[in-house]
Amino acid sequence: MLATKLPAWEMKTKEDRDRIFKEQLDRAGVDYYDFYLLHSIEEGNIDTYEKLDCFNWGLKKKEEGKIRHFGFSFHGSPELLEKVLDEHPETEFVQIQLNYTDWNNPVVRSGKLYEILHERNIPMIIMEPVKGGTLASLKPELEEKYKTLRPEASVASWAFRFVASLPGVMTILSGMTHEDQMQDNINTFSHFEPLLDKEKAVVDEVTGIMLEIPQIGCTACKYCCDGCPKNISIPDVFRVINTMTLYNEDFRPRSFYNGLVNSGRGKAADCVACRQCEGVCPQHLPIIRLLKEAAEKLDQ
Ligand code: SF4
Ligand code: SF4
Repeated sequence: MLATKLPAWEMKTKEDRDRIFKEQLDRAGVDYYDFYLLHSIEEGNIDTYEKLDCFNWGLKKKEEGKIRHFGFSFHGSPELLEKVLDEHPETEFVQIQLNYTDWNNPVVRSGKLYEILHERNIPMIIMEPVKGGTLASLKPELEEKYKTLRPEASVASWAFRFVASLPGVMTILSGMTHEDQMQDNINTFSHFEPLLDKEKAVVDEVTGIMLEIPQIGCTACKYCCDGCPKNISIPDVFRVINTMTLYNEDFRPRSFYNGLVNSGRGKAADCVACRQCEGVCPQHLPIIRLLKEAAEKLDQ
């Protein structure tokens, strides 16, 4: 199955839709895509998709056999999701960010997005099931809660099982980096077991404890990185700060940060507040302020 997306931020005219689509087909060496998405719909870009008539364009591509299934990925509010679905009932599927700590996150509101889609029987593709890797490695006392119930299971498998136990979930994008993560995911899904009620209660308990630890909600999507004039590896800086916060430990994250800077990446203190990054961050993070705070910890 092949999937790709049409990005609002690379289109100015209607001709750009076909230009981008043709490049995507050519690069992959195929005649059609199984799943094609309008990329990352949110309050800041829905007007571009509407102005360029991208929904009708997608339906036409489907009639032509160039797209098998047409939908969109979404990073906006529940209110916008309902509006888009009301106006475009042809939507076949929607990709949303969902994991157990974002279910009640007031910015992401995954639980509400899930409920809207589930009520309408719209299949979901799930992104960020392990929240950029943060749910694969927890504080030892939290991991212990999972290990007590299932000693052999990885911590990441709990995050996957939470998402995959929800009715209406069509597929889960795991965002793996290493082969051992792939193997772990294969193990989880080859012998898939939905969460039992007592396991769900433990996930709720872990979620409650985690939500009390303030963290930067960066999912490491890297959308902010390309345009940064100071070449700051923003998600890595936030990972360093989160690791220092979560594990009360600063030698390893600090040394990782120094390695980044020594390899030529900008320091947190180099930020010139141009705002390029904040305009593209799907998590709506106040990146400039967060980098300033990071600089106080890392660049003194
Ligand atoms: S605001 Fe700072 S971090 Fe963001 S793109 Fe500009 S220089 Fe880079
Ligand atoms: S765009 Fe936002 S969520 Fe994505 S890597 Fe950058 S700061 Fe993190």
